[in-house]
Amino acid sequence: MIYFDYAATTPLDATVLKKMLPFFSKSFANPASVHAPGQAVLKAVDDARYRIAEILGVKGTEIIFCSGATEANNLALRGLAEAQKSLKHLHIISSPIEHASVLEPLQYLKSQGARISYLPVDSDGLINPETVINAIEPETILVSIAAANSETGIIQPIKKIGRLIKKYNERRHLEWLNSSPRLRGAAPQRIYFHSDATQAANFIDCRPEAWHLDMMSLSGHKFYGPKGVGLLFVKSGLVLSALARGGHQERNIRSGTLHVAGIIGMAAAFDIAVKKRSSRALKIGGLRERLVTEIRRFAPDAIVNTKLTASIPSHLNVSFPGWEGDRLLAALSERGIAVSTGSACASGDISVSPVLRAMGRSENIAASAIRFSLGTPTSAAEIAVLIRALRDLTHN
Ligand code: PMP
Repeated sequence: MIYFDYAATTPLDATVLKKMLPFFSKSFANPASVHAPGQAVLKAVDDARYRIAEILGVKGTEIIFCSGATEANNLALRGLAEAQKSLKHLHIISSPIEHASVLEPLQYLKSQGARISYLPVDSDGLINPETVINAIEPETILVSIAAANSETGIIQPIKKIGRLIKKYNERRHLEWLNSSPRLRGAAPQRIYFHSDATQAANFIDCRPEAWHLDMMSLSGHKFYGPKGVGLLFVKSGLVLSALARGGHQERNIRSGTLHVAGIIGMAAAFDIAVKKRSSRALKIGGLRERLVTEIRRFAPDAIVNTKLTASIPSHLNVSFPGWEGDRLLAALSERGIAVSTGSACASGDISVSPVLRAMGRSENIAASAIRFSLGTPTSAAEIAVLIRALRDLTHN
C-alpha cells in the first residue's frame, strides 16, 4: 500500500520508539509516586516537558499533557467557558472550517446557552483578520482558529489576528481605566485567543508568544510521534475548568496518570521535527509541486483547492469534476494507494466537506475532492505511481 494520508496520521519515528520503550517496562513507575523509581520517571517527564516548552518558547508549567488534540481542543473551549460564572452570556468567535474537535464542543456550548459566531472564509479558505475584530461583542470571551486546516492545509494569519486581538484588549482596557470610576462598572471582558496547531506544528514555528496566543493545541502523532498523546499550552494565570476530576495531575487541569512513554515520545519526535523542519518541508513541497503539475496537465478541469503559496507543504486537496471523491478513493485503494476525501463520514452518512462548502465550492465540486497528504517517507517513485493511477482512472 502506498500511503498518501499523512495528514490523518504519521508513522512513529524508529528512534522515537527506542526512547519510549523503557517506559513501558523497566521504568514503569508512576511519576506521581514519591519513591525513587517514581521520581526518576517524573524527571524524564519533566525533561520532556521542558524540551517542548523550550521549543515553543513557553514555561514548562504552561504545558498540560493530555490524550491528543481532540482533548486539548475540548479542554480549551469547554474548560474556559465552564470556568466562567455562566454560559448564558458567553460569546465565542471561530470559523466553519475548524476540525470537528472544535466545532462539536462549540455546538455543545451553544446548546448550553453560549453564542457562537463563525467567520467567513474566502475561496482559498483564508480568514480576513479584520473580520475577527468586527465580530467582537461585549461578551466575547474567546477566539479559536486553527493555524493550518486539516483538509486543505491553508495557513491562517494567526500572528496578525493575535496582534489585533491584543491591541483590541489593550485599547478597551485603557478606555475603561480612563473612564470615570463612578460610571465605569466592571472591567471589560478580556478576549482570549486559542489556536489548534495540530496540522501546523510539523512545518511552522508555532510560538504562542509571537502569535499572542493564550492557548494552543498540539498532537504527537502528526509529527512522527505516538498516538494518544498531545498537549494544551495554557498561558499562566488563565483559569480552566477541568473536564475530568480526581487525580490532581497537570495543575488540576487534567487529572489522570500521565501517558509517560507517549510524552517522552512526543517530546523526542517534536525535537526531531523542529530540527528537520526546513529540509522536510523542502522535500515534501517539491514532491507536491510535481504532483500538482502533472494533475493539471492530464486533468485540466481539476480544481486545486489548496492554495500552494499559503499552505503547509504536505497537503494537496483537489476536486475532480465528474467524480465522487469516495469512488475515486475506492478505485485508488484497489490499486494499493491510500488517500482521503475532503468529506467527513458521520454516522454512516457521507456529508460533503463543510470546509470546501465554506470556501464557496458547489456541492458537486466539494463531493469530488480528494486530499493527498505527503510525508517524510513519500518518494518520487510513489508520486509517479499515484500520477499514473490518477491519469488512468480519470481518462476512463
Ligand atoms: N485538530 C486537527 C486540525 C486535526 O487535524 C486533528 C487530527 N485529525 C485533531 C485536531 C485531532 O487530533 P487527535 O487525533 O490528537 O485527537
